[in-house]
Amino acid sequence: AEYEKRINDEHELFKALEAVKDTDAHTADGERISVCVNIGNPSDLDSADCKFDGVGLFRSEFLFSSEKEMPTCDEQTEAYREVIKAASPNYVTIRTLDVGGDKQIKYLNMQKEENPFLGERGIRLMLNNPDVFKTQIRAILIAAADEKVKIMLPMITSLDEIRAAKKIIAEVQAELESGKIAYCKEPLVGIMIETPASAIMADVFAKHADFFSIGTNDLVQYIMAADRGNYQVENLYNPYHPAVIYMLNNIIRAGRDANIEVSVCGDLAANTDFTELLLGMGLKKFSVPQPMASRIKYKISGINLDEARELKYRALAAEDETEVKNILKKIK
Ligand code: PEP
Ligand code: MG
Repeated sequence: AEYEKRINDEHELFKALEAVKDTDAHTADGERISVCVNIGNPSDLDSADCKFDGVGLFRSEFLFSSEKEMPTCDEQTEAYREVIKAASPNYVTIRTLDVGGDKQIKYLNMQKEENPFLGERGIRLMLNNPDVFKTQIRAILIAAADEKVKIMLPMITSLDEIRAAKKIIAEVQAELESGKIAYCKEPLVGIMIETPASAIMADVFAKHADFFSIGTNDLVQYIMAADRGNYQVENLYNPYHPAVIYMLNNIIRAGRDANIEVSVCGDLAANTDFTELLLGMGLKKFSVPQPMASRIKYKISGINLDEARELKYRALAAEDETEVKNILKKIK
């Protein structure tokens, strides 16, 4: 009887997902919500089987990790152009190279570090290797010459990093201008919020970024001081922890107050336990692995925003992970 029930539930869910597949996402009370996809390779879009609102996270690492030497500007341009054209007229959010931590690239001459996740990762590595960063920015701007694009900076912890990255972007634009090469004149430049420093400074950083995207995979690991890949501490790597809930609310509120777009592109965006909470906090954009897009659209379609806000207040008042989990899972 139990398995028959599960099979029936699966059939019902499958029918419901088919029904939302080709529609835009709306809450039950009619609020339009963006559901974008995360990709790691241009070919990830070939298998897309549902309507979505653009690419919320293009992890550009694949271009760099599969080769023995650094991809040229032309090679990168081709890959970015392919994705931008495929997603047009929607935006593609290209994250600049985010290696370091557990991801090593041989030809970048990366140092062996005692604590790589607290070391030269993401934007830190790029600012220390401006030629690599510049080549990538150049390729993105050329690829988006007749289109629009979002450039996303990973692992931001300080305003100086945002300023330095933007300065380099402006330099590349000036070089393209003087070389009479067609390029995207007004890319949107945003940041990943995935460190406690950026989560706490969200009000200030929002004045300097066109958008925020919350990288919950790293944010949880850094808030909890628990390695995301270490099973010894997997009980601590817990997104239901009240500190995580508090930080998520602070980031989304700060983005809303500053009137910039906020999305979640980490795994939490695809966790249906969190959909109502995030909507209650005011999130308007989710970016999820492509196979999860219909599932999240369907979940959103059953949520009423007044009830979601009420759930948010209860979750924010919870004192421990179990209490948060019970509230989100609606266990009495
Ligand atoms: C994240 O940290 O949530 C994120 C989306 O980035 P990655 O998983 O690639 O580190
Ligand atoms: Mg990350």
